[in-house]
Amino acid sequence: MSAPASTAALAYIGLGANLGDRGAALRQAAQALGRLPGTRLVGISSLYSSAPVDATGPDYLNAVAAVQTTLAPLQLLAQLQALENAAGRQRPYRNAPRTLDLDVLLYGAVRSDDPTLTLPHPRMHERAFVLRPLQELAPQLVSAAQLAAVAGQAIQVLQGAEWLDG
Ligand code: AMP
Repeated sequence: MSAPASTAALAYIGLGANLGDRGAALRQAAQALGRLPGTRLVGISSLYSSAPVDATGPDYLNAVAAVQTTLAPLQLLAQLQALENAAGRQRPYRNAPRTLDLDVLLYGAVRSDDPTLTLPHPRMHERAFVLRPLQELAPQLVSAAQLAAVAGQAIQVLQGAEWLDG
């Protein structure tokens, strides 16, 4: 892994999969994040299982990764979409089950209402599968009130952060 320049931003990436070999997809994606140009993996959450939100289908595996990156926000998004495509991602309809979903949750303090890349991610505060793992990596970014608001969502921790090495 190459050391990013001092201008690197700290970004948080949401990982999810509910089709195929979900664990392998998440592990490969998390490792691939650390190999993106100018990017270093600096944190990984526990591995979670969650029921689909606003959708049907199998349960998801979820995690959140922290990266230091010199990629610009749109460059980072393009790299994530390339990883999704490489994992066989298809988009037959909105919120369809997926082999791999990678979302930019936060990119430093950048705020954007561009529909191509909305920052912070517009639905991150509605989702336990984002807030719970994000809280592990950045407790200051998640409030007790936000966690309470998603407390009814079905989610469980499957494995600690060592899931990535095992
Ligand atoms: P999805 O079906 O969840 O993969 O949605 C991907 C779409 O959401 C793409 O068209 C992206 O351009 C758009 N999008 C907007 N904001 C974000 C974000 N913060 N992270 C990832 N995709 C985003």
